[in-house]
Amino acid sequence: MGPSASAGTPADAIVIGAGLIGLALARDLRARGLRPLVLEAATAARQASWAGAGMLAAYRTADRALRPLAIAAARLYPVWVAELERETGRSAGYRPSGTLFLASPAHPAPAPALQGWEAMSAEAAAELEPGLHFAGEVWRIGGDHSVDNRALGDVLLAALRQSGVEVREHVRVAAVAPSAHGLAVETSVGRFAAPVVVNCAGAWAGAIAAPAPAPVRPRKGQMFSLRNAPPLRHVIAGEGVYLVPRGDGRVLAGATLEDCGFDPSVDAAVVAGLRRRAEALVPALAQAELEETWAGFRPGSPDDLPFLGPTSCPGYWLATGHFRDGILLAPITAKIVASAIAKGRLTTALDLRPFAPDRAAAPR
Ligand SMILES: Cc1cc2nc3c(=O)[nH]c(=O)nc-3n(C[C@H](O)[C@H](O)[C@H](O)COP(=O)(O)OP(=O)(O)OC[C@H]3O[C@@H](n4cnc5c(N)ncnc54)[C@H](O)[C@@H]3O)c2cc1C
Repeated sequence: MGPSASAGTPADAIVIGAGLIGLALARDLRARGLRPLVLEAATAARQASWAGAGMLAAYRTADRALRPLAIAAARLYPVWVAELERETGRSAGYRPSGTLFLASPAHPAPAPALQGWEAMSAEAAAELEPGLHFAGEVWRIGGDHSVDNRALGDVLLAALRQSGVEVREHVRVAAVAPSAHGLAVETSVGRFAAPVVVNCAGAWAGAIAAPAPAPVRPRKGQMFSLRNAPPLRHVIAGEGVYLVPRGDGRVLAGATLEDCGFDPSVDAAVVAGLRRRAEALVPALAQAELEETWAGFRPGSPDDLPFLGPTSCPGYWLATGHFRDGILLAPITAKIVASAIAKGRLTTALDLRPFAPDRAAAPR
């Protein structure tokens, strides 16, 4: 490895990965008076955090361990986004729309009903969402909103630039190891050092050699967007497809859940199948134009829960494995992990034991 690449002011913490998790964490670390440095292998905010749909599906979370964290995240979201928008003068496209859940035998509502779910008649649903064509059981989830995750990535990057946090792109971290001065971080451009290192490398977190493992694997999702679509007021969660309106004539639809490694291809037949399901629910979508198709990699853990906290290697932390909810969980992850790093220990009323990096995870 070449000479030290960490010229300039030494960092208090190195954040590996500039997805929404790493960017949100770097912002909170800076707000607590620390000097974070973000190292990004490619381009910031262009992986899962760019590929996601932006649903903030906290009240749809049925997992008992995850639900309190998800609801805390949903409560924090509007305040967090408003602060970011004030700081930067840019919009993150937060839409407090609520979600309509369309139940069917293959897509049942949880029983007993979860807090925040309200059953409604098909007529009432049609009044709330005039384009909807669905005769079955409908549930309104009033607390599940959405955000434009691509806009949010740009807003976070702008906020970091304004507060003087460096995001170094095209720097791939290969390994993290204890050294005489905290932790050494070996990268494609040389060695960096810091007392604290946080692995926020999403679906790639497990590829970084380190004394403590991050057993994360890619869970691929294919999606598409339509433009000149009829206006939809709500996020719609149907059987085998969801619809997320952006409020500018675009509607996003997704998504598959595939275990096929890092294969970035998009299959036209898969997109056509998703589109058929979407049009069955909202027939006027047939008039909209296909704008874009894409695929991304959710960071999956063996038990589908994130890894949040310190590892057995002093100074080395994980904030990854957020699977299907990383856009929702970015601000709460940042708040918890930044506060813990600043104080030297985890302090929150939430039970974080299910997310401990060294838990013995049972595969699902
Ligand atoms: C199709 C799809 C739909 C989704 N929909 C939703 C949704 O509606 N709501 C929701 O909450 N979540 C959703 N998700 C999940 C969500 O997108 C992820 O959980 C979240 O974006 C993860 O954020 P991240 O920052 O951990 O990962 P990423 O955004 O993938 O960022 C990780 C970053 O680390 C970088 N990196 C990797 N390896 C290294 C290295 N060795 N050195 C330096 N940098 C490295 C990568 O280049 C990348 O920029 C969806 C995901 C997909 C794919």
